[in-house]
Amino acid sequence: MTAPKTSAHIIDGNTLSAQLRQEVTQRTNALKARGLTPGLAVVLVGDNQASEVYVRNKVKACADSGLHSVLDRYDASMTEAQLLARIEQLNHDDSIHGILVQLPLPAHIDANKVIESISPAKDVDGFHIASAGALMVGQPGFWPCTPYGCMKMLESIGCDLRGKHAVVIGRSNIVGKPMAMMLLQKNATVTICHSGTKDLKAMTLQADVIVAAVGKCNVLTADMVKPGAVVIDVGMNRNPEGKLCGDVDYAGVREVAGFITPVPGGVGPMTITMLLVNTLESAERAAAERGLA
Ligand code: NAP
Repeated sequence: MTAPKTSAHIIDGNTLSAQLRQEVTQRTNALKARGLTPGLAVVLVGDNQASEVYVRNKVKACADSGLHSVLDRYDASMTEAQLLARIEQLNHDDSIHGILVQLPLPAHIDANKVIESISPAKDVDGFHIASAGALMVGQPGFWPCTPYGCMKMLESIGCDLRGKHAVVIGRSNIVGKPMAMMLLQKNATVTICHSGTKDLKAMTLQADVIVAAVGKCNVLTADMVKPGAVVIDVGMNRNPEGKLCGDVDYAGVREVAGFITPVPGGVGPMTITMLLVNTLESAERAAAERGLA
């Protein structure tokens, strides 16, 4: 990894996604030739508009790469017991290798209970406590798609994390914490920052790698970044003008950083790609168990 001297090299999530999806398609075709089609079940409860778009994109991504998918749509009045019963059916459905319950769920349904009801063997979102535990102790398991996509972006630029100082801003269960664990597993020295961090700038200025996963525009500005650092922007926010933006002041930081991800076109496309990868890997495991390898 050699940082360019002028403005940052842009890590293009669309291009990297396209490459990874080509590999997914090839491996899916190979699996189909052995008699198994990878299958993803997407469960949507209620009529959240943003969720509608997300699930449509996931189903389309499956079709584009040759995976089978099932979209289960339910009215917001669905009970928790009904949802748990449906997940139990999917857990035992041999044509389904990944189960994804789109969040948020209606308030009367306990999302944690629902996630814990998914078989860890089909937990392709990586949100089950067994998946989190496996990541924590370095055992095989599904990695949550967004931080997994960030790791692929770092890999794509040949970033050897051993001995690097990585600063993760944000500690959510779906991005910040698993991100920190993945970086640690690759031998980075990791600092996790959050809303209680006293001097964020003092932390980020020491970082060789910064991952911003906050949900606020311009949390990271050029004066907070060490020249040549790698900056991964997970944020997906709307600025006051309604324009999509990340957590990073992109125009400013790209003049200082060595590598940077844009928003849109950065981490976003990687998330669905890693969902496909996880589903495919689950199907490959199922094939091996059935002696189809
Ligand atoms: P979240 O659950 O709201 O977590 C945000 C984290 O940021 C929290 O840990 C919070 O600290 C911390 N934080 C808030 N203000 C801060 C500040 N001023 N300085 C330092 N830390 C601060 O959000 P999330 O689900 O992790 O998502 C983060 C962002 O990533 C959002 O914009 C979301 O839309 C985006 N996202 C994108 C994708 C994608 O595919 N591209 C996927 C998932 C999420 P506390 O814990 O102390 O409250």
